[in-house]
Amino acid sequence: MIDVVLKKGKEKAVLHKHPWVFSGAIEKVKGKPANGEIVRLLNIKGEFMAYGFYNDQSRVALRLLEWDEQVTIDEAWWREKVGVAVAARSSILEEGVTDTCRLIFSESDYLPGLIVDKYADHLSLQILTSGMENIKPVIIDELQKLLNPASIFDRSDASSREHEGMQPSFGILAGSPPPELVEVVENGIRYGINIAEGQKSGFYCDQRDNRRILADYANGKTVLDCFSYTGGFTLNCFQNEAKSVTSVDSSALAIETLKSNLELNDFEQPDHRAIQSDVNKQLRKFREEGETFDIVVLDPPKYAPSRSALERASRAYKDLNRLGMLILKPGGLLATFSCSGAMDMTTFKQIIAWAALDAGKQVQFIHQFCQPGDHPVSATFPEGEYLKGLLCRVL
Ligand code: SAH
Repeated sequence: MIDVVLKKGKEKAVLHKHPWVFSGAIEKVKGKPANGEIVRLLNIKGEFMAYGFYNDQSRVALRLLEWDEQVTIDEAWWREKVGVAVAARSSILEEGVTDTCRLIFSESDYLPGLIVDKYADHLSLQILTSGMENIKPVIIDELQKLLNPASIFDRSDASSREHEGMQPSFGILAGSPPPELVEVVENGIRYGINIAEGQKSGFYCDQRDNRRILADYANGKTVLDCFSYTGGFTLNCFQNEAKSVTSVDSSALAIETLKSNLELNDFEQPDHRAIQSDVNKQLRKFREEGETFDIVVLDPPKYAPSRSALERASRAYKDLNRLGMLILKPGGLLATFSCSGAMDMTTFKQIIAWAALDAGKQVQFIHQFCQPGDHPVSATFPEGEYLKGLLCRVL
């Protein structure tokens, strides 16, 4: 195994079992490891620190896997890690709340670069690191053994693979191709999931709990669901008999799927309007036309892909939330989210406070949203915490 030597003074994070070593922290590489090869990390004195995947094309040059020198990272090691992650989701699946969840969440499940989502009997897999790509056959085999899925579909078409010097990979890996829409249940609501063409791996199951929590407030209310995608918040609000829901998304496919999801569920004459538009434009239009709502949901895509983008993203979040506040009825509720890992809750609250000042409104935080148990946050990898939200009463 090839040795990689860490710079003096860079030991702390490794000793604290943080799984990333940046290229700038590396003193030297004793040999020429292939990308994705497992190497030994040594301190400057030559003492063992950890084993990890090596990649010289990535800013994260090493993704650490194991800190015990005596342990061999073999097939059994990988199978065990997969088994532990899958077993940890059994309570979510057994409660009957859903048949759909994230089974494996990358570093947060000690499997850097591997994401597996379960949609009823079908699995969608995403591999984002070259190291994990080498282990793919074992992962697929273990998932088949544990779950016997109807299909496993490769959605490794994310642009982040480029950072690892990898080509996209897409298509059926095991079983027969899934139907165009796989029917799943979440919070008692039925959805058709387009595994091959949907965004990310097809569905945002990370909002499962938050949709239910928000819906508790929606009875008899007029709701505006911005960035609605396939209707998660929209449908949960109808389930609790919202008076009306308006869904806004810029994606034609998302709106089309939302409409078919609405039909899948037997709500009694839902008063629904779907608008395919840019949310910022549409919010301004509502403002001009004097249309107001009891509840506004803002669940935008990731505005800050990295810490360096945070300042610009903060302005975008502020402006979006200011617009959202301006079309709320007095005392209305704003459910606002950020899925940018670089944005922490304290900063997010500050941004909402600024937006309120600009809008001339008073805001009370009445609930904090977070990511659900199938998207765990490892204590040694705080970067895994990405989804946060605030339920605000706006006066
Ligand atoms: N709330 C959704 C998930 C939202 S994902 C749920 O519960 O499932 C973000 C969505 O924002 C995507 O559907 C994307 O199409 C949409 N989007 C991105 N930029 C947009 C914009 N400027 N205007 C409107 N929609 C946008």
